[in-house]
Amino acid sequence: MKQKTKQPMYLSEPTEPIVCTHCGCIDDYSTELKSNQLTARCAGCKKFIKNISYAPAKFYVGKYKGTLIADCIDKQYMIWYAEIVAKGKLKKDILKRISEL
Ligand SMILES: [Zn+2]
Repeated sequence: MKQKTKQPMYLSEPTEPIVCTHCGCIDDYSTELKSNQLTARCAGCKKFIKNISYAPAKFYVGKYKGTLIADCIDKQYMIWYAEIVAKGKLKKDILKRISEL
């Protein structure tokens, strides 16, 4: 394992965390599509949290900025990105993508 590098300032918070207003769970939810609107449901208390935007996950910073996670085949880069930059849902999407390669 490489030593963890400190996260640069400009890489902070690429995505908004989804917080359950009922039990306080952070980024612990499942999604479901309801009349073309993607909704987040808490994995802890199973209550509806909020509608979330239905945008495919992509890189917000770095050399693949604007590239869809689903289109990226650079596994090493995604491992780094998931470890250092990505949080919450984005991180899950990247880890899922890594596991598919
Ligand atoms: Zn909850």
